[in-house]
Amino acid sequence: MGKILDGKAFANELGQNLKEKVKNLKEKGITPHFCVINIGDDPASKIYVRTKKRRAKKMGIIQDIYQMPADTEQAEALALIDKLNADPTINGVMVQLPAPKQIDADELLERIDPNKDVDGLTPANIGRLWMEDHFIEPATAEGIIALLKHYQIKLDGKNVVVVGRSNIVGKPLAALMLEQNATVTICHLHTQNLGEITKKADIVVSATGQAFLITADMVKDGAVVVDVGMNHVNGKLVGDVDFDNVKEKASYITPVPGGVGPLTVQFLMEAVVKLTRRQNGRE
Ligand code: NDP
Repeated sequence: MGKILDGKAFANELGQNLKEKVKNLKEKGITPHFCVINIGDDPASKIYVRTKKRRAKKMGIIQDIYQMPADTEQAEALALIDKLNADPTINGVMVQLPAPKQIDADELLERIDPNKDVDGLTPANIGRLWMEDHFIEPATAEGIIALLKHYQIKLDGKNVVVVGRSNIVGKPLAALMLEQNATVTICHLHTQNLGEITKKADIVVSATGQAFLITADMVKDGAVVVDVGMNHVNGKLVGDVDFDNVKEKASYITPVPGGVGPLTVQFLMEAVVKLTRRQNGRE
């Protein structure tokens, strides 16, 4: 049976260090402070925003939530981003996605000052990521890289298959893994014979939002399996991976919950502190 990659325990360990870092900054009169803009009433977004707020408080970080109505116009959201960009007391800005239909989310992301881009999703920071000259990385991708390192799972020379190609998870993760000298294949809905491809992987990461997509026959013996998916099935949170069966073949596997999720929240907090330090000449 595969060993559990315990993201929750690792996030808590990192949290202890970050709390100390924040305390040191506060002693110098600097309090990390970021803003989450949430437009509309997406129930999952509301939960994510609250989870972040709890974690921020625990770390000693200030998080403001700007809750905007579902019929918010593009210009209003852009004006708020401009205001937060210009405010020297704000170190980070992020837009909670998804946004309502009338909103052009890409334009909002593009408007965020790249120096305050806690999510690492502005075109400037995505470009820097692929150029291997980045100062901020999307939290889930960074969390996965850190988790593998924590368990001494090497990426150099490994065959990695990332299932999912979103700007938030799949693509930035592929970029970071490539940077670590892995051979990376990115799969998506148009991929033919997905199982044949995942079966060749030393490390499989699934970020699709399809419950039980990755089954035991799609994974080779001894593979490392990282499950990013968060799906609600019969009121229960499950990942993309058929955990009970895949764990029998994997060498290491992340559970859902308790795997990648807590690391995403923790690495968002790490990003806020990183940007705060950078803005105060403390890289
Ligand atoms: P998106 O919906 O933006 O992207 C999903 C990707 O998966 C797309 O590239 C899609 O392909 C691909 N995909 C969907 N179904 C299949 C399939 N059957 N076979 C192969 N590829 C498929 O989702 P996100 O990246 O935002 O999120 C993915 C999952 O991760 C969700 O469950 C989300 O809740 C979760 N998540 C978890 C986080 C955590 O911290 N644990 C953080 C962020 C997200 P195509 O491009 O062709 O449509």
